[in-house]
Formats: sequence, C-alpha cells, structure tokens
Amino acid sequence: MPSNLSASARGHKQDELDWDEEREELYLLLLPLVLEAAQQAAINGLDAAGLGGDVDLDLLFEDLRAFAEEYARALAEQITDTTRERVEAGLAAGMTLDELAVWFEDSRAEAIGISTITEVFAQGNMTAWLAVGLALHTWNTAGDNLVCPICRPNDGTTVPIGFAFPSGHTRPTAHTRCRCWLSPAIAGG
Ligand SMILES: [Zn+2]
Repeated sequence: MPSNLSASARGHKQDELDWDEEREELYLLLLPLVLEAAQQAAINGLDAAGLGGDVDLDLLFEDLRAFAEEYARALAEQITDTTRERVEAGLAAGMTLDELAVWFEDSRAEAIGISTITEVFAQGNMTAWLAVGLALHTWNTAGDNLVCPICRPNDGTTVPIGFAFPSGHTRPTAHTRCRCWLSPAIAGG
C-alpha cells in the first residue's frame, strides 16, 4: 500500500476519483489506531497517577471512543483535502495518478505519526485523570535544547485539566513535531 490514495483510486482517471470514498476509507483506517493509542494512553495515565486498578475501563473507553471517532474524522478530512489539492494540481500539470502516488508514499504514516500520537496520548491521559477525579496536570517538554519558544514557557507548569497553559494550548501538541507530554499533578502535593 504505497499511497495515500486507496488502491482502488490508483489507475482511475481524475473524474472517476471518489473523494468521499477516499475520506471514508482513511477514516476507517485511522479510527482503530487512534482508539488503541488513546486507550493505551489512558492506562498509562492511570499508572502514572498510581491509580491503575481503580477505574471502570469500559466506561472510560466509551468516552475515548467518542473522542477517537471525532479525531479520526477530522484528521481523515484534513488529509483528504490536502491530498485532493495536490492530486488535482499534479493532474493539471499532466502527471498520472500512478506518478502522483509516489508523492504520497509517506502520507498515511505521517497522518498517524508523531503529532497525532502526541495529541491522542495527551487526550487519553486527560480523559483517564478526569475519570478518577484528578483535576490538575503538568506540561513536560523533552527538556533538551531543541525545545521551542512556544513550549518552553509551559515546561513544568500545572493547570486544571482543560484550562490553557502559558502558550494558550490546553494540551500537547502546541505545534507540528511537538514532543511534549502531560503528567498528573496532585493538588497541594
Ligand atoms: Zn512541545
């Protein structure tokens, strides 16, 4: 599967491409990946808070499914729009779909890449902490000299879950390739 275009799309002519179908296929591909990452993040988040055994995971995973569906839907839409723009520009320039496929070799991998995992992981953490009644969390950066000016002011700051950190973001990512993560914070602790 070398392309962000589905297998069925390759070899078709431009006017035969069904972008709704492309978007739906991508959504169905992304959803289980997003859901699994969010669930894993929730479990890790509970462990980080020392509360691994205290939660009804079925209920928590239901909340995460709603998030995952919405997230995967938006991501599939965004990727499909970008792909469509590039494909249409390429076709207008006289390229074939098979030639264009080379451009998109890494698109799907990118789509489920670092930024997505970072965001989904943070959301899974937050959902789990809220489920066990934790109210505060702390923003952590990678702590090396690559940390950017956007994230540096957030490093080590603690806010109520759902509220903005100094950068204005309520959770990582703050930008593409953001490597930040959240940790639970105990009030007064
Ligand atoms: Zn960051």
